[in-house]
Formats: sequence, C-alpha cells, structure tokens
Amino acid sequence: MTTRHNWTKEEILEIYNKPFMELLYEAATIHRQHHDPNTVQVSTLLSIKTGGCPEDCGYCPQAARYHTNVEGNDLMSVQQVKAQALRAKSSGSSRVCMGAAWRNVKDGPEFDQVLEMVRTINKLDMEVCCTLGMVTENQAKRLAEAGLYAYNHNLDTSEEYYKEVISTRGYEDRLQTIENVRKTNVTVCSGGIIGMGEYIEDRAGMLVALSTLNPQPESVPINALVAVDGTPMEDQKPVEIWEMIRMVATTRIVMPQTQVRLSAGRTGMSREGQAMCFFAGANSIFAGDKLLTTPNPDVNEDMEMFRQLGLNPQKAFVKAPQPQTVEAIDSEYAAMGEKPKWSRPGHTIERNEAAKHKGSLVSGD
Ligand code: SF4
Repeated sequence: MTTRHNWTKEEILEIYNKPFMELLYEAATIHRQHHDPNTVQVSTLLSIKTGGCPEDCGYCPQAARYHTNVEGNDLMSVQQVKAQALRAKSSGSSRVCMGAAWRNVKDGPEFDQVLEMVRTINKLDMEVCCTLGMVTENQAKRLAEAGLYAYNHNLDTSEEYYKEVISTRGYEDRLQTIENVRKTNVTVCSGGIIGMGEYIEDRAGMLVALSTLNPQPESVPINALVAVDGTPMEDQKPVEIWEMIRMVATTRIVMPQTQVRLSAGRTGMSREGQAMCFFAGANSIFAGDKLLTTPNPDVNEDMEMFRQLGLNPQKAFVKAPQPQTVEAIDSEYAAMGEKPKWSRPGHTIERNEAAKHKGSLVSGD
C-alpha cells in the first residue's frame, strides 16, 4: 500500500467506525507490511524546564494561569540532562525527548544551552528530540546543526475544536512550526490528545490534518487526556480503551509508515489494552515514571510487559541516519534575535478563565 496524502474526513470516519474486528485486522495487516510487529521504539521524555508557561492550553498543568500542583523548575544544566540520558539509555530507551514549557524558542543563552544538550545527547548515540514550542526556520536549522533527530509539535486536535482548547495561538502557528522544521533534515513528531470533549469528527479532522502533510510526520503520538485538577479539563471522563485502540488503528491505516506512539494516559490502561494497541499498530511508547508532569508506568513494568509480549526495543537510527553534530564555533547559522509574529487569536475561552478564577480563590492571590 502506498502512502496517501489526500484522505478526507468522511473516509477516516468510515475507517474509525468499522466493526471492531475488521478495523483491528486491517490495521494489523498494514502494520506488518511496513514494520516489524515485535519491535517497539522506546522514548524517554524529560522536562528540562517545567511550569510557568504563558499559554492557556486547557489540558496542561504547566500553564501559569491554572492553579495546579506542578512545581516550576528553571532550565536544567547540560550535565543533569546527560546523566538522565545515560540512565534512559541503560534502561532501553533509544530516544530522549526534551520538553520545555515555553511559548516559543527565543534566541539567547537558554537556547544555546539547549543546543549544547542536543549535541551532548547525539554524541551518546541516542536520537534527540525537542519540544520547545514554536520555532522559526533559523532556529530549526540551528537545532538540526546541533544534531537534533526529531522535533515535536502537536496539532492537539482538529482545527475546528482547537479554538475550544487554546486561545493564545492559532492552528496556523502550529502548522508553520512544522513547516519550519520540514525545511531541515530533522524528522517531525506531531500528534494529539483524545478525551478533551471533542467529537469523533474532530479526531478524524486531526488525522486529516496530519495525514495530508507531505511527507507525513515520522512520529505521531496519540495521547489520552490525563485530567489534572486545577485545569479547565479536570472533570473530563477518562478515555475508554476501545476509543484508544480505534484511534491507534485508524492512525496506522492512514499513516502506514509513521511510528505511532502510545503517549499520555498509559497508566489508566491495562496490559491487555496496551497489547491490543500494539496489535493495532502502535510501535512506540514513552518510558519513565513521569511524562513531563503526569504519571507514567515504571520502566521495569514496561520491560516486564515487553518480555511478556515478546517485544524488543527498537535500536536508535534504524529509521533515519544519525545526524552530524556541528560544534557551536563552526555553526553556519547565527542567532538572529527574530521577533516572529506568531498569532494571538483575539478570543478567550470561558472555561479557561473560570479555571484561573477558581484557582485564585483557592490560593488567595
Ligand atoms: S502544552 Fe506547552 S505551550 Fe501549552 S501550556 Fe503546556 S507547556 Fe505551555
């Protein structure tokens, strides 16, 4: 089967709503044509700068405006990151994904420090991914030069539902960042979250947006919302495992080559549920006891699951070659100190405002 870039929402809905066994069989068949079904890629997500984010993503406990239990932390040192990466490598991870709670990357000492982290981890022969918010083309090039393997920037949901989740930046901004990354040899990781109150049509809409990118993202994380107290989504019901399996299977069918990653929400899934997700085409997980700030299964538990299911962790750089690291002094791209005009859509979301207000009543500020 060749990769199609012209999926429509109707076609994707038809796939999503197939009888369960048909859906599973089709997804598993496509999965086997493109991937080794017994190999699963393992990534470790590391929060290198936590909390205090100016954005208002309704699901996120790191947004400064919500009053959650997340403790903020400044940017980690390169040595701290190196120590964590070595630990991740020894427990089977081939990739380290570094997340910073920023609206967008700003040229300056902090970005330079992140570039040094990228160089350091690439030299450990691990795939390095970053998720730092919006990036300009020049910043993406600087990351590529440092040896970045992947950049994560999720679309989160459909364009229509997006306005109910985030008001501080637009869908177009997200697509622009993906386009900026695509101008380099860095691979693209982009997916979304289910269980935020969206319709099935929105899930299909998000898959249209991702699958019609050409090339399609090399990784697509599928998250189940972890409803955190203090965020506007604190009362959302947990996603049922059946919905997760359907979403994974549909993603696999419309994006046959991509790594489909089981991301947030795995603590709420049984081992049997996760096994069905792997059968349906998931071939990547996040390991480590925390996913930025929300809980995740213990590494030993995951390795026990791998043993039980006969799965093997994927080695680094089997899908794309290891990038060269260019040292800072030899860099072709200097900081430009750009002030890009990312949009600030002029609307607010009532429930986000209500969460902020509620939090301030509790904390008394
Ligand atoms: S998801 Fe990212 S951009 Fe949005 S509030 Fe959280 S840290 Fe900020």
